[in-house]
Amino acid sequence: MGQKVILVTGGSRGIGAATAQLAAARGYAVCVNYVSNRAAADAVVNDIKSKGGKAIAVAGDVAKEADIVHLFDTVDKELGPLSALVNNAGVLDHQSRLQDMTAERINRVLLANITGSLLCAREAVRRMSTRNGGSGGGIVNLSSMAAKLGGPGEYVDYAASKGAIDAFTIGLAKEVAAEGIRVNAVRPGLIYTDIHASGGEAGRVDRLKDAVPMKRGGTAEEVAHAIMWLLSDEASYATGTFIDISGGR
Ligand code: NAP
Repeated sequence: MGQKVILVTGGSRGIGAATAQLAAARGYAVCVNYVSNRAAADAVVNDIKSKGGKAIAVAGDVAKEADIVHLFDTVDKELGPLSALVNNAGVLDHQSRLQDMTAERINRVLLANITGSLLCAREAVRRMSTRNGGSGGGIVNLSSMAAKLGGPGEYVDYAASKGAIDAFTIGLAKEVAAEGIRVNAVRPGLIYTDIHASGGEAGRVDRLKDAVPMKRGGTAEEVAHAIMWLLSDEASYATGTFIDISGGR
């Protein structure tokens, strides 16, 4: 059997970058997808290669179906049959109450986070399902504790998108369970990454960390370990399930 192949959407920074690096250390050939930060994606790829691993960086916006199709085709051609997808790319917008949100903003968040994840999973299932001649595989979706907490006053649109990810994880897991594909999700809590700056508050984790039972924010690596466990054979009977990585929040 050839080398296992993993695609990490949004693998250039944050949780995705940590996952790409851990996957490479576990022996996967890695596709690091990014949308605009080519330098960050190249840095992840170069780091993996410097440790003897195999990786490629592929640009593509998960909010665009044509980009997703191109992304998966590139993985087929350059790395071989896909064994794992981490649906990690996700966006949020500036902290705001719902009463001040525009339809354009809401649609942008839902398109990238929900439609993007669904379409990436579609492409993965087309390739991995034993029903389609594939060899099976694993999908891990990035939900969020926001799916349970709701994001009031900050981003209920983002929280709603993550609630959709939870439902989609359960449904797709059942749909493809007999076809060799396991579908699970992680729900990170307050993790130190750039995403909080996208919301307009780079220091958000430090502001809120005292309310976390463990009294600290988490690291991208701590989330990556849960993702890679769900994809591993150690999780062979787990599908449609969730791991909260939130320090008890
Ligand atoms: P981040 O630091 O903001 O990094 C986002 C990554 O996604 C970057 O690699 C970025 O690429 C890529 N990306 C953004 N929009 C994209 C698009 N339309 N198409 C393709 N790639 C795109 O994010 P993060 O904090 O690591 O979050 C990763 C996932 O975890 C997200 O789904 C997020 O909702 C979830 N999560 C995070 C936290 C947290 O506290 N950090 C908590 C709960 C859930 P570029 O480098 O090219 O911009």
